[in-house]
Amino acid sequence: MRAEQPFQVVIVGGGSAGWLTACVLAARHPGLAITLVESPDIPTIGVGEGTWPTMRETLAGIGISEAEFLVACDASFKQGSRFDGWRTGEAGDSYLHPFTLPPPGDMAALLHAWSATGSGFAEAMTAQAAACAQHLAPRQRGMPDYAGALNYAYHFDAGKFARLLTRHATQALGVAHIAANVTATTAAANGDVATLVLADGRALTADLFIDCTGQAARLINGHCQVEWIDRSDVSFNDRALAVQVPVLPGSPVASQTIGTAHHAGWLWDIALPTRRGIGCVYASRFMRDDEADDVLRAHVAAQVPGADVTALAPRKLSFATGHRARFWQGNVVAVGLSAGFIEPLEASAIVLIELSARALADALPASRDAMAVHAARFNEMFRTRWDRIVNFLKLHYVLSRRTEPYWLAQRDPATIPQRLADDLVLWREHPPSARDFPLHDEMFPAASQAYVLYGMGHGLPLPPPAAAITAAAARLAEVQDRARRMAAGLPENRTYLAAIAAQAA
Ligand SMILES: Cc1cc2nc3c(=O)[nH]c(=O)nc-3n(C[C@H](O)[C@H](O)[C@H](O)COP(=O)(O)OP(=O)(O)OC[C@H]3O[C@@H](n4cnc5c(N)ncnc54)[C@H](O)[C@@H]3O)c2cc1C
Repeated sequence: MRAEQPFQVVIVGGGSAGWLTACVLAARHPGLAITLVESPDIPTIGVGEGTWPTMRETLAGIGISEAEFLVACDASFKQGSRFDGWRTGEAGDSYLHPFTLPPPGDMAALLHAWSATGSGFAEAMTAQAAACAQHLAPRQRGMPDYAGALNYAYHFDAGKFARLLTRHATQALGVAHIAANVTATTAAANGDVATLVLADGRALTADLFIDCTGQAARLINGHCQVEWIDRSDVSFNDRALAVQVPVLPGSPVASQTIGTAHHAGWLWDIALPTRRGIGCVYASRFMRDDEADDVLRAHVAAQVPGADVTALAPRKLSFATGHRARFWQGNVVAVGLSAGFIEPLEASAIVLIELSARALADALPASRDAMAVHAARFNEMFRTRWDRIVNFLKLHYVLSRRTEPYWLAQRDPATIPQRLADDLVLWREHPPSARDFPLHDEMFPAASQAYVLYGMGHGLPLPPPAAAITAAAARLAEVQDRARRMAAGLPENRTYLAAIAAQAA
C-alpha cells in the first residue's frame, strides 16, 4: 500500500470484463480512482452475446436505462435456452430451460402431477414456455425499467455493449481511460505488481490491479504465474466457428438462445433485431475444422430464411478449457477470460464477470494489510462457482442417449465429476433442491438443474402422498391460465424492440 494516497485501482483490458468491472466498481464507490488501460491494437474477443438475468440488476446498478441499453446494443430479450437434438437427435427432440421458476412448493409433487399432463416439463411449469413459443417479450413497455412479467436476460451485440459501457464509464462514472499496450510489469518485494509499464514508456502504479486481458492473462499468468487447472477431461469443446447472418425485415425475434446438438458438439443461435449470431461449437478431438464449417453452413441454410451461405466467412475461435487455481493473487484479481473459460453453453462467462465485480465492490480492500484475507475468501467462493459451472454444463451431456463417439465419451463415468455423479444418485430419490445448491446467489439454482434434468428425460423421484399430487395439479392448471393471460397481454419481441428504436430515433 502506497502511504497517504487514496486507494487506486487499475484495470487492464477493455472487453466486457474490463468495462463491466469498471462500471460496477465506479458506481458502487464514487470516490475510488479507477483507470482502465486498453490496448489500441489487440481486439476484444468479440463474442459473448448471451447473458443471464443478473444483467438487469447490473445495468440498473450502474445507472443505464433499459431502453438506452436495448437500442445502443441492438439487444433483444433472452428468456432461457432451448436445446434441440440433445436427447436422441430425432425429429421433435427439444426442451427448454427457461429463466422463470416453477410454481413454489413440493417439486416431487409437481413432477408427479406433470407426468399426467403429457406436456414438456418447462411447458407445464411456467407460462414462459408459451411466451417463448410465440416470440413474446417478457414485459410490457409501461412497466418500470428492468421489471418483467417473466424473468429475463438479454442477447446483445458484444462490440456495441463494450462501446456503451466505455461511454458510460468515462462520461458518467469518472473512469479514466488510457489506450496503450501493457508491455511489462515490475514487482514489489512481496511479489505484488508494483507498476505496469506501457508501450509509450509511461509507468502506472496502483494498489489493486484487475486483469481483464482475456486469453492473454497478462497479469494473473504473465506476472503472477498462477497455475492453470485444466478441465478438458470433463468439458471437451475447445473450438468455435462464428458468423453473423442478417435477418429479413419483420422476421420474428426468438425469445431464447437455441442450442442445437450435432455429432461432435452443438450450435448456438442468438437472435438480435437485425441479425442472428450463429456458431458451431465442437471438440477438436472429435471434429475437424472443415467438418465444423460444413455443419455450420448447413445449419444456417436450414434455419435462416434468405441466407446466402456462400457469403459466410466464419471466424475461428480456439479456447483452453479450465480456470486459474486462484483468481486473486497478491494485489492482482483476474476477471473474465483471464480467470478461465468453460465452453459457451448456458452463457456462464458474463454472469461470472458480474458476480466477480460485485464481490469486489462488496468487499473492496481499503489497505494492503487485509488483502490476503480478501483474496482467500474470493478464491474460495469463485473456486466453488467454477466447479458449479463445470458440473452444470456436464449435466447437459450425461443423460443424452445419442450414440456418436463424442456423445458416448461425454457420458463415460471417468469424465463425470464426483459431485455431479453424487447428485445424480440423490436425484433418483429426490428432485434437485436448495440443499444441493445452498449459496444465496447460485448461478444455476435447483430450478435450473431441474429444467435440464427433466428436460433431458431423467426419471421421476419417489412419489409424495396422493393429496400433495392433487394440490400440485391445481398449481399446474394455474400456470396454464397464466400462459393464456400473458399471450393476450404481452407484445411480440419484434414489435416491442421496433417501438423503442423508433422512439429513440
Ligand atoms: C466462442 C465463444 C462464445 C461465447 N459466448 C458467450 C455467451 O454467449 N455468453 C457469455 O456470457 N460468454 C460467452 N463467451 C465468453 C465471453 O466472450 C467473455 O467472457 C467476455 O467477452 C469477456 O471477455 P474479456 O473481456 O475477458 O476478454 P476480451 O474481450 O478478449 O478483452 C481483452 C481485453 O484486453 C486487452 N488487452 C490484452 N492484452 C493487453 C495488453 N498487453 N495491454 C493492454 N490491453 C490488453 C484487449 O485489448 C482487450 O481490450 C464466449 C466465448 C467464446 C470463446
